[in-house]
Amino acid sequence: MLDKIILLADIRYAAKTPHIPAQLMAPTGLLSDTLARPLRDLRISVTDRCNFRCSYCMPSEVFNKDYAFLPQTSLLSFEEITRLTKVFVAHGVEKIRLTGGEPLLRKNLEVLIEMLAKLQTPAGKPLDITLTTNASLLARKAQALKDAGLQRVTVSLDGLDDATFRRMNDVDFPVADVLKGIEAAQKVGLAPIKINMVVKRGTNDAEILPMARHFRNSGVVLRFIEYMDVGATNGWRMDEVLASKQVIDRINAEFPLSVIDPNYLGETAERWRYDDGAGEVGVISSVTRAFCGDCNRARLSTEGKMFLCLFASQGHDLRALLRGDYSDAHISAAVAHIWQRRSDRYSELRASLPPDESPPSDGSKRVEMSYIGG
Ligand code: SF4
Repeated sequence: MLDKIILLADIRYAAKTPHIPAQLMAPTGLLSDTLARPLRDLRISVTDRCNFRCSYCMPSEVFNKDYAFLPQTSLLSFEEITRLTKVFVAHGVEKIRLTGGEPLLRKNLEVLIEMLAKLQTPAGKPLDITLTTNASLLARKAQALKDAGLQRVTVSLDGLDDATFRRMNDVDFPVADVLKGIEAAQKVGLAPIKINMVVKRGTNDAEILPMARHFRNSGVVLRFIEYMDVGATNGWRMDEVLASKQVIDRINAEFPLSVIDPNYLGETAERWRYDDGAGEVGVISSVTRAFCGDCNRARLSTEGKMFLCLFASQGHDLRALLRGDYSDAHISAAVAHIWQRRSDRYSELRASLPPDESPPSDGSKRVEMSYIGG
């Protein structure tokens, strides 16, 4: 909080002074945080609503009919999102991931994608624009998303068996319709397509091999995510985590695998290739193999708060600057100020503690994943 007051005070001071003091002028170009991690990825949550109630993200007992979702007026408009994205791109962001809640619930999302697709990095490269979705609306929207400039898509799918799938997402939605969405995305040329399966021991881990068998030779990259203690509502327990090593062991027993290099620095998934050439799988191991060391991701919540970690409890209100009539230079100074003071490494800290113990916090609750988009 103090930081924010200092920040706003700095900006207000700067706004009143025609000549912006040098130390307040945003360092142009690339930024590094206190652990020398650059700012490369921006995850933008475009809605806090979802039509699924996945138990590890939006448990229905909390996100029920009385839950107060954000009013439309507090959401960033597409123009505001684009303006902020430009500021982040000038500081080194090359990849944009649109998330939610369920991003395809945000009306006319294609319009935002078109606006973002026009942006370029300082080196003149187009941005890498992707989206994470539960694919419930993908079959209908795939062509329009592609035409607007979306390059690829990640689909959350926690099993092929309808009963298991329902146990994970708590709504009556058939797996067949998710598969139709994936097919539609493939047909229109959104590629590569990645599938994210959150593995909860005792709930859907029996689906690991059926999923692997199904997506082998499909060109789709299947990734298994360790169940995480995100937010403050999913009732996380360590004994429901199946370590990625065990996931790989299970698959390797049937289909031999070899580990391969990451595609780029900061990639969250550890990549494994089928020795018989049937494609690759990945594991995202925030609990047992933390990857904070090269975490280059910032998150923008639906109402314009900048978060520095998936497990953060506080965000920095950039919307106040957007709607407070501050210039892009001021907002850029704010982003630089925030990122350069970043030291988050929650998963690393958690890994150093006994199971079921969480790293010390300032007592406030961790932000919900559905609010800042995974
Ligand atoms: S725990 Fe936070 S710092 Fe670590 S990888 Fe995840 S988002 Fe990044």
